[in-house]
Amino acid sequence: MAERIGIVGAGIVGLAIAQALARTGEFDVTVLEKESRVAMHQTGHNSGVVHAGLYYQPGSLKAELCAKGRAMTREYCQEHSLPYREAGKLVVALNAGEVPRLDEIQRRSVLNAVPDLARVSMARLREIEPHAAGVAALHSPHTAVVDYAAIAETLANQVRRAGGRVLLNQKVVAVESSAGSCRVSTSGTTHVFDRLVVCAGLHSDAIARLVGASDSPRILPFRGEYWSLAPERNDLVKGMIYPVPDPAFPFLGVHFTRGVYGETHVGPNAVPALAREGYSWGRISVRDTLESLRWPGAGALAKAHWKMGGKEIAASLFKPLYFKAAQAFIPELLPSDLRHKTTAGVRAQAWSKDGSLLDDFAVDQVGPVTLLRNAPSPAATSSMAIAEHVLANHLGIRT
Ligand SMILES: Cc1cc2nc3c(=O)[nH]c(=O)nc-3n(C[C@H](O)[C@H](O)[C@H](O)COP(=O)(O)OP(=O)(O)OC[C@H]3O[C@@H](n4cnc5c(N)ncnc54)[C@H](O)[C@@H]3O)c2cc1C
Repeated sequence: MAERIGIVGAGIVGLAIAQALARTGEFDVTVLEKESRVAMHQTGHNSGVVHAGLYYQPGSLKAELCAKGRAMTREYCQEHSLPYREAGKLVVALNAGEVPRLDEIQRRSVLNAVPDLARVSMARLREIEPHAAGVAALHSPHTAVVDYAAIAETLANQVRRAGGRVLLNQKVVAVESSAGSCRVSTSGTTHVFDRLVVCAGLHSDAIARLVGASDSPRILPFRGEYWSLAPERNDLVKGMIYPVPDPAFPFLGVHFTRGVYGETHVGPNAVPALAREGYSWGRISVRDTLESLRWPGAGALAKAHWKMGGKEIAASLFKPLYFKAAQAFIPELLPSDLRHKTTAGVRAQAWSKDGSLLDDFAVDQVGPVTLLRNAPSPAATSSMAIAEHVLANHLGIRT
């Protein structure tokens, strides 16, 4: 009998792992997803950017898997006729004070072998993005845009065609594991697997607790909100315009992205969500919020990031502040160009007991259960390389 491998979560990471296993033809693969569709959470609510690996600590898993994942995603989209546009990205310093941080990104990009990255003159900046302002910039021509939900659907169909199952409306509520066996209970059914891989995004710590893994890291949900640009103003942006990120903060800052279908969005910001699936300020879970507030690292995190956090919250609540931050990059932008808020996404950011936000991807192993504990951006870009990494290093499978 083929080895039975269960996967929790039909986001892009779980589906990439399922597809990598299913295509070997050697495993009985079942994906369990609590929602009625695949890609309902982070995978279907992100910026759609295929990152080229500029920012990541050289030698980290993020640096390695982002570079591999970009190439694999490109090839996958070509093979399956999915949209993939190398729109190119500018990282722009707005003043001399930001230039040393831009230099550091350039240093990392060189070590990470980001293809064709260039420091550009202001004249070249205006050729690439005629409406952008700034005093110095890096250009990454191979940063691309895609539709991650469409990629996830395609992966799910491949799993099914290879004889695997993607079972929807199957919320995992209990896991009993012993050497070589996992009994996984979902609302109404029990599944038995030889091994289990958990890619549960915003709920990865909850499932880690079910299997007796370490209590740390926990997930701290950070919402990212977007404004869409009025369609007649989409042309203000050709590709992507990004700020120089604050290295103390694991998010990239509000940016402009011309999406794969030609629409332009501005965002995402990063505000604490008051529920794991807190897509707006009105969605509050007392339990999730209390859990975060009672976590030993809460005080240290608040102390380290209160200033940045306060600014992000204020800009979320008052459009003129969000607009002002965006207009610094495109002086011609008008308040009426930010037409309406579009669907937000909630990032599953792991944080430790000491209050630090985990930067790198993290995978734990507890008996027959492999747990993705931290898969934030660029995990969508990296998903197919994460799958290869998990198969080789955690499941002992070479493809
Ligand atoms: C605002 C935002 C912008 C981003 N932009 C980018 C970007 O441009 N480029 C990039 O590379 N990355 C980006 N990311 C990050 C990227 O989207 C995520 O890293 C990636 O989607 C993670 O995929 P996942 O499969 O781990 O998680 P998810 O897509 O969240 O999937 C997890 C799945 O597990 C399911 N699940 C949870 N609990 C259970 C349970 N008990 N039983 C069954 N199923 C369960 C959930 O329903 C969900 O479908 C962004 C993220 C956000 C939020």
